[in-house]
Amino acid sequence: DTVSDDLIKSIRTIPDYPKEGILFRDITTLLGDARAFRRAVDALVQPWAGSKIDQVAGIEARGFILGGAVAHQLSAGFVPIRKKGKLPHETVRIAYSLEYGLDEMEMHKDAIKPGDKVILVDDLIATGGTAEGATKLLKQMGAEVVAACFIIDLPDLGGRKKLEALDVPVRTLVEFP
Ligand code: 5GP
Repeated sequence: DTVSDDLIKSIRTIPDYPKEGILFRDITTLLGDARAFRRAVDALVQPWAGSKIDQVAGIEARGFILGGAVAHQLSAGFVPIRKKGKLPHETVRIAYSLEYGLDEMEMHKDAIKPGDKVILVDDLIATGGTAEGATKLLKQMGAEVVAACFIIDLPDLGGRKKLEALDVPVRTLVEFP
């Protein structure tokens, strides 16, 4: 549709970043384009406009930028999900799989109340390992994960299926094969 055609043009592709053979999809150009930024946030929240969402959880770091805007739009709170060791208060932590090996992410213990309706936000879903870890952490705290939203899907890497297997609907705006 026209929104994805428009958005795709605002995303810059950097070859061989962060290493050779990778095509990095750079959303800083989308964020810097006022019209594209607004359209992306509006399109992401559209299915939940007017419904009661308690919290938007954003994954460090690009998920913070989008998640903050999405939370504002839905009149929800914002919960940061961060790399380990960054949050000042008591946390819950989960290991998640990266391309090579494992890492850990965490959030504050008191950030979510049981039964909270939560939307998870990040810029891009690839293998889905990051979003799957975040979803499990949120569910451990009793959240109802209403949806996971991303600007970009790399469908060949299968991330969507990982989240759908956890009963989380996935919303994405643009695909790169
Ligand atoms: P996954 O865990 O789904 O394999 O990887 C997704 C995570 O890696 C997201 O947090 C995303 O920000 C980051 N990521 C991986 N590849 C890219 C890329 O090409 N562009 C951007 N902007 N982020 C990426």
